[in-house]
Formats: sequence, structure tokens, C-alpha cells
Amino acid sequence: MTQQRHEEQREPVSRAWAELVATARRTATDGLVVGTSGNVSVRVATGDGDIVLVTPSGVPYDRLADEDAVGVDLDGRQVLGELTPTSELPLHLAVHRATDAAAVVHTHAVHATAVSTLVAELPLIHYMAAALGGPVRVAPYALYGTDELAENMLRALEDRTGCLLQNHGTVTYGASLDQAYDRTAQLEWMCRLWLTASSLPGREPSLLSGPQLRDVADKLRGYGQSRRPR
Ligand code: 13P
Ligand code: ZN
Repeated sequence: MTQQRHEEQREPVSRAWAELVATARRTATDGLVVGTSGNVSVRVATGDGDIVLVTPSGVPYDRLADEDAVGVDLDGRQVLGELTPTSELPLHLAVHRATDAAAVVHTHAVHATAVSTLVAELPLIHYMAAALGGPVRVAPYALYGTDELAENMLRALEDRTGCLLQNHGTVTYGASLDQAYDRTAQLEWMCRLWLTASSLPGREPSLLSGPQLRDVADKLRGYGQSRRPR
């Protein structure tokens, strides 16, 4: 690669790395993970094909610096950095290969993880399930970091942008790091809501129907500002 080409490619990669580190730190400061749990990835287009930046395995997010960027190609070959990539590389690459995701966020958020031990699908407690594509499924348990876990997750993610991992945590993806992060926060909030509403002895929460959720999905397409707010 020529020196000029190298410089041209560095900028989007270093910008994406800074955003990835900020997102990973946010999962910790917002209480969605403890210590070095969880991991984040973001896909960046370069002149030499797409690379996937990922958090390194077992490194506290507040210690990550600009020079710690870790990147792999879509086959998992390390093309950037010295640190070992996250142990959940199979999970991140499975999402990047199978979907148009720009970013993937994995956490051990406490309410979501609690729900993953109780049901095979989060009951339709709130209309924001439509923002994740429908009722959120739980991927059957498999050892962390394995292809088996990645396969179970992909099945649970069919027509969804988020799922739970049984006795483990959450996975969401989106068109940006912010969107993937927001979906994790919404998922954790919905799980907390369901646990709260289900906790009264002798009472069952009311749930939404499939048609009610489809109406929401239609309406959400026009949600927010049609023009950019000033
Ligand atoms: P890493 O530190 O290897 O990313 O692992 C954390 C985790 O959540 C594994 O499921
Ligand atoms: Zn994990």
C-alpha cells in the first residue's frame, strides 16, 4: 500500500475506533455490563474491502487508547492491531456476514439476562418490541465464544435486530453504533418492565397481540422528525 493510500484509509478507521470505544465505555457506565464483560463491533469500508473493528478480549474499556484498535476481515483474519480480538468474534462476524449491520453490541444487562433464564421469548409487554422487529427470542444456551452460540443467535435473530442469549445476555445490531446501543437499552428496559409487571403475586400483566404490534411497526416508520430539527 502506498503511503498516501495508507493515510486516506486511516481516518475513517480511527474515527470508527473512537466511536466504538465510546460505545463500549457507555455500556459500562450505564450499568449494562460489569468489568470487561460484553463487546462491541463496527464495520468500516476501506479501499481494500470492509474491516470489522472489535473490542479486544478482557481489556477494561477505560484503558483503551487510539493505538489499541483491533480489526479483522470478514473471515476473521486480524488485519489491524496487536491485542487479541474479543472471544465473541464468531458472534459478531456471523451478524456482519448475514445482515447489513454497521454495528453490533453484546452486553450482560441484568434484567435481560434474568429474562433469558425464564422464557423462550420476551412476552409482548410493550409496543417498543416493534423497534426490534417483533417479539424478542431467546437463543438456546451455548458456551461463550463458540460457533454454536453464534448459530443459535443467528436463528433467534431472524427478522429481528436483537435477541437474548440464554443465561448470558443481549445482542443487538443497527445501522450505526448509536442505533445498536439504543436497541440494547430499549431491550433491557423492556425486560425490566416485564419482570416488574410480572412480580405481583396472583397478577398477570396484559400483553399486546400480533396485529397490535404490526400497527406499531407501520406507525414507527413515520416516527420522529420528518425534517432535521434545528
Ligand atoms: P471478551 O472480553 O472476550 O469480549 O468477552 C466478554 C464476553 O462477554 C464473552 O461473552
Ligand atoms: Zn458475553
